Amino acid sequence: MGGEHEEIKRRIEALRREIEKHDYRYYVLDAPTITDAQYDRLMAELQQLEREYPHLITPDSPTQRVGGKPREGFVTVRHAVPMLSLANAFSEEDLREFDRRVKSALGGEPYDYVVELKIDGLAVSLTYRNGIFVRGATRGDGENGEDITANLKTIRSIPLRLNQPVDLLEVRGEVYMPKKSFVELNARREERGEPAFANPRNAAAGSLRQLDPAVTAGRNLTIFVYGTGEMEFAHREAPASHSEVLKFLEGLGLRVNTHYQVCRNIDEAISYCRIWQNRKAELPYAIDGMVIKVNSLAQQALLGTTMKSPRWAVAFKFPPEQAETTVRDIIVSVGRTGVITPTAILEPVFLAGSTVSRATLHNEDIIRDKDIRIGDRVIVHKAGDVIPEVVEVLKEKRTGAEKIFTMPRACPACGAEVVRQTNEAAHRCTGAACPAQLLEGLIHFASRGAMDIAGLGPAVVKQLVDSGLVRDVSDLYRLTAEQVKGLERFADKSAENLINAIAESKSNPLHRLIFALGIRHVGERAARILAEHFGDIRRIMDAGYEELVAIPEIGPKIAESVIAFMHEPQNRALIERLVKNGVNVVAEKTTAAAQNGKLAGKTFVLTGTLASLKRDEAKKLIESRGGKVSSSVSKKTDYVVAGDSPGSKYDKAVQLGVAIIDEREFLDLIGE
Ligand code: NAD
Repeated sequence: MGGEHEEIKRRIEALRREIEKHDYRYYVLDAPTITDAQYDRLMAELQQLEREYPHLITPDSPTQRVGGKPREGFVTVRHAVPMLSLANAFSEEDLREFDRRVKSALGGEPYDYVVELKIDGLAVSLTYRNGIFVRGATRGDGENGEDITANLKTIRSIPLRLNQPVDLLEVRGEVYMPKKSFVELNARREERGEPAFANPRNAAAGSLRQLDPAVTAGRNLTIFVYGTGEMEFAHREAPASHSEVLKFLEGLGLRVNTHYQVCRNIDEAISYCRIWQNRKAELPYAIDGMVIKVNSLAQQALLGTTMKSPRWAVAFKFPPEQAETTVRDIIVSVGRTGVITPTAILEPVFLAGSTVSRATLHNEDIIRDKDIRIGDRVIVHKAGDVIPEVVEVLKEKRTGAEKIFTMPRACPACGAEVVRQTNEAAHRCTGAACPAQLLEGLIHFASRGAMDIAGLGPAVVKQLVDSGLVRDVSDLYRLTAEQVKGLERFADKSAENLINAIAESKSNPLHRLIFALGIRHVGERAARILAEHFGDIRRIMDAGYEELVAIPEIGPKIAESVIAFMHEPQNRALIERLVKNGVNVVAEKTTAAAQNGKLAGKTFVLTGTLASLKRDEAKKLIESRGGKVSSSVSKKTDYVVAGDSPGSKYDKAVQLGVAIIDEREFLDLIGE
């Protein structure tokens, strides 16, 4: 007996640790590693054990609280009315049990329900004072959430002003990411080697809890509101039921989901749940169940709440839609940015409205964690109802013939070495001439800040690649006007302009070329530092790790990346071709630009403060290109470079009609 008891205690402890770990991943990192259904099973087992052995319940058990702890970095706000969770129901029987409790608590009073969709998003609170949106917060642990006002303001469907100036109104709702945006966001993240979001709710949470609201703004989030918290209004009759609340909110200009129904009894409620369980694939957003609420607000008050959730509502969770199939093969593909992504080729299986024959495996770690092998029987589901994924391997069905997958060492598109950098989950192709990355690579190469080739934008790059004229960046320098004229939409003049612009870029300063090569982690600043330190790209090609990390501001990440790039034979060959085609690969002092004196005979006057350069730096740049800097404006002055708060020299220039340029124009002019 005692032994059995010990065992139960140990199981409870193990479940608690396991759940805590998943809570942390889910609520704090927005990156769960198991599905909600798997999590719910762990929780259900713990709850069951705690019901059977109530003396083993501890106040810190995960069953005793609502949700996530607020993450560091945001200001904490206290909810005047706690934002509770919902009790779960997983079956019709659970729903009837809920109904029995409601019926007995209301002691024979008639009641009805409102049944709504349970949106797979993140609960937020929006506070309006006199009709103006003043504060938005996450639910957090129910008592305290995070102030995310600035982030919520970027969501277009959240009105900043209500249709009526209600004194005080706290609205509650669900911020979510539509399925389409979820798929696109994950595709982009995968391309960049960033971890994919497990479901739309984590995607919404990860997007909202950004310290930089600009990131949130780019994430296409929207909202459905479904309730209220604090309320004070003087001259208006308050809604008496939940369905009236929904109408009231709608009337204020808030976005309310139209798919809800008032049901007279639990049977009607269950039928309505079943309708959406069958039709959820039609919705443009993911739902993970239905929410059933007692309609009358007076009855809600009578029923009250527990510590965790209201007694007048229940969440009916849909059973997970899963299917069993076989992994026939694991293939890899190269994305536009060189990330190598493994994909499982599955025996086709019907799942949640469509036939599924592939599932993304994200990266090597995920394959290893789940121990997915070629030939395995697996359970698949659709993340966010749309993205097929392997949930788990049925290891008991293994025959021994399954094959362990290893990431290829050579890129399937170009054969260059594939590397995985420290602290990254993604494998990447290091080939600068990789055809899979060609388009992106060329667009970057030609862009402003890089080689800055006028007229060579994404559309033209695509034409050059599609026509086969350009297979790597060095091919640009072998293009002829004749070849370009042959392309659609090119006239003689524009073809020549392009060829000239390409030719001009040959004499760009070295740091531009280094940046243009698209070496991972080497941005404009690192490129400048490398150019200055080494003075010649051929010296960077042979630089060792120690030498690189000894340079101020060059850390291990950049060093590792430079070495991986420069060690790839294809990249070395590419650089040699650039040299052969006349592209400048040495630093400033000896560049063609300085020798020819790009600014020879030109006189400059500097006034005001420049954002990126000190006055003497600007002076050096001008002089190194053969120009002169004078301290006063005269008719002989060619350019006045005006920074912030320019002085009287500016007025003088206006008076004399001397060309006035800003910093950007200046940098363009000198070719920086
Ligand atoms: P919940 O998601 O089960 O239900 C409550 C929430 O439903 C509300 O806070 C609100 O955000 C949402 N909701 C959507 N539509 C609504 C509507 N019309 N009316 C009212 N509320 C609506 O509970 P929870 O406490 O937010 O989260 C717990 C759940 O999170 C678990 O059941 C589990 O599935 C998941 N979870 C998963 C992991 C994991 O590792 N996979 C870890 C922790 C939690």
